[in-house]
Amino acid sequence: MPEFDIIKQYFQAATAQRADVVLGIGDDCAILQPPAGKQLAVSTDTLIAGVHFPEDTAAEDVGYKSLAVNLSDLAAMGAEPAWVMLALSLPAEDPAWLQQFMQGFSELARQYPLQLVGGDTTRGALSITVHVTGFVDPQLTLRRDGAKPGDSIYVSGYLGDAGLGLQKRLGQLSSGQGLDHCVSKLNRPQPRIELAQLIKPFATSAIDISDGLLADLGHILEQSQCAAEIVLGQVPLSPELQAYYGDSLDWQSILSAGDDYELCFTVAPGNETQIGSIAAAMDLPLTRIGEIKSGQGLVCLDHEQQPMNLSVAGYNHFE
Ligand code: ADP
Ligand code: MG
Repeated sequence: MPEFDIIKQYFQAATAQRADVVLGIGDDCAILQPPAGKQLAVSTDTLIAGVHFPEDTAAEDVGYKSLAVNLSDLAAMGAEPAWVMLALSLPAEDPAWLQQFMQGFSELARQYPLQLVGGDTTRGALSITVHVTGFVDPQLTLRRDGAKPGDSIYVSGYLGDAGLGLQKRLGQLSSGQGLDHCVSKLNRPQPRIELAQLIKPFATSAIDISDGLLADLGHILEQSQCAAEIVLGQVPLSPELQAYYGDSLDWQSILSAGDDYELCFTVAPGNETQIGSIAAAMDLPLTRIGEIKSGQGLVCLDHEQQPMNLSVAGYNHFE
């Protein structure tokens, strides 16, 4: 394993430095000063080679994505990123791999005032665990349990690209020239941190779409104890995905393949014009795809306004 100087070299310079880090990398613990009046939002996610990414994924992309999926959780709560920890298990001492990994990690981290404050480095099967901490205003957290009947349902960006990118990476597509944008959505999702800050005063609930819209909107419905109707024809699809599928869209895959890392959020009827202004200001599609209803369950209407039968199953690691 790398000596401590090497650890320092890769980790200490990887991110921005923050004034609220009293003691960063180099001691037994980091010492952090939380700001008065804020609450901490904390989250952790592990990525395992062969499970969360194909084993031959470029180290830079693994570094970028391992942070991105964690920042996406902070975005889903409306939190501002502050501190991050990184626990690495590596099969061999491989400074070139580590350097590239940290380059990808750092490229994303440096978009935010986010500091790497510690971690752990061990030998074992390739696995990466990131732990992030962000700050939230106690009155302005985005949670899964706030949706109300009559709210509109929105999603950011386009859905299904990462799932199609993964099929391409795994060699499962017979055609599929030039799905570069889809592969890059798979490897380098943009966490919607800035969007979350802007919608936070207007959204009644939010979740990041990591397991596909059906599963993740399903979590909002369960926790908010309501139902929803979405119109498939409104679901935003990228030009690249539309060109690939033509007239035979694979809705099951688009809505359940996962890895989109877009936000799904709900908005009370009076606040919809604000969402339009935010979309324009950010130059990011924010699309109304349906409505929260009272009751239970999720109905997806096809182009003839008929319910389409889609299965909600997300990825279950223990099945
Ligand atoms: P200890 O044996 O006391 O746990 P380590 O040798 O594991 O100490 O770590 C020394 C310092 O380097 C600690 O501050 C730790 O947080 C930091 N560190 C180790 N691995 C990483 C990593 N992958 N990313 C960031 N910091 C790390
Ligand atoms: Mg340690």
